[in-house]
Amino acid sequence: MGLLTNRYAVVTGAASARGLGKATARLFAEHGATVAILDLDAEAAVDGAADLGPDHVGLACNVTDKAACNTAVAELEGRWGRIDVLVNNAGITQPLKIMEIEPGNYDAVLDVNLRGTLYMSQAVIPGMRARKSGSIVNLSSVSAQRGGGIFGGPHYSAAKAGVLGLTKAMARELAPDNVRVNAICPGFIATDITGGRLTPEMLETIVADIPMGRAGEASDVAGCALFLASNLAAYCTGTEVDVNGGALIH
Ligand code: NAD
Repeated sequence: MGLLTNRYAVVTGAASARGLGKATARLFAEHGATVAILDLDAEAAVDGAADLGPDHVGLACNVTDKAACNTAVAELEGRWGRIDVLVNNAGITQPLKIMEIEPGNYDAVLDVNLRGTLYMSQAVIPGMRARKSGSIVNLSSVSAQRGGGIFGGPHYSAAKAGVLGLTKAMARELAPDNVRVNAICPGFIATDITGGRLTPEMLETIVADIPMGRAGEASDVAGCALFLASNLAAYCTGTEVDVNGGALIH
């Protein structure tokens, strides 16, 4: 029996083949969930969903666009009748120093990571509240906790710290309606988010600082998302769970 049998789950930014969202969508599907992959590119989202099996859905949705978030959620609720789990995974990063951050960099990074998390959550909350049940999982980062220093710049740390604050405030407000909200803080995970800008030297320095001696795998994060999404975490809300191989122990 899967941990998410008969559950309907939405994972944003899950088209990226080696990404945390795709690994999470796959694990959710293996545990019985019906999953919707939302991403910028419709074709990539549809292909990603087809990889998971026949019943899953891929939709285009730019999470920075509030109307697009509402439209996608309305379509899924129309089809499924409900959404049980939302994973706010869509995110971008940029390796900039503080004085290099231009207004456009700030807007891009804050908008996808933080505004997108707010808009997608606002889209699913009314349905979850009405059913007195739901789990929202937000992707923050160890960068929020330790002040970057891995790959993303200060604007990324700020956006992900914002995600932690938003997570805790939503958790407090939604707890009376049995809607749980938690954050995952991954350390360094080998995905395509670095967009080819991670040099072998940078990788060596990062791994040297990880007590477990390896970069994380996307499946390491997916396992944590599964726990938080499922009833195993029924009494967990407002938490930030570290998935970092010991890179930050606090
Ligand atoms: P990734 O680049 O592999 O995937 C990110 C996905 O988000 C892509 O499919 C992209 O198309 C999508 N996306 C970007 N902007 C979007 C938008 N406006 N609307 C919808 N989708 C959008 O990244 P990843 O490494 O899998 O990261 C997933 C999440 O985990 C991100 O929030 C990231 O910040 C966070 N994270 C990653 C790491 C890591 O080391 N990889 C560490 C900590 C946190």
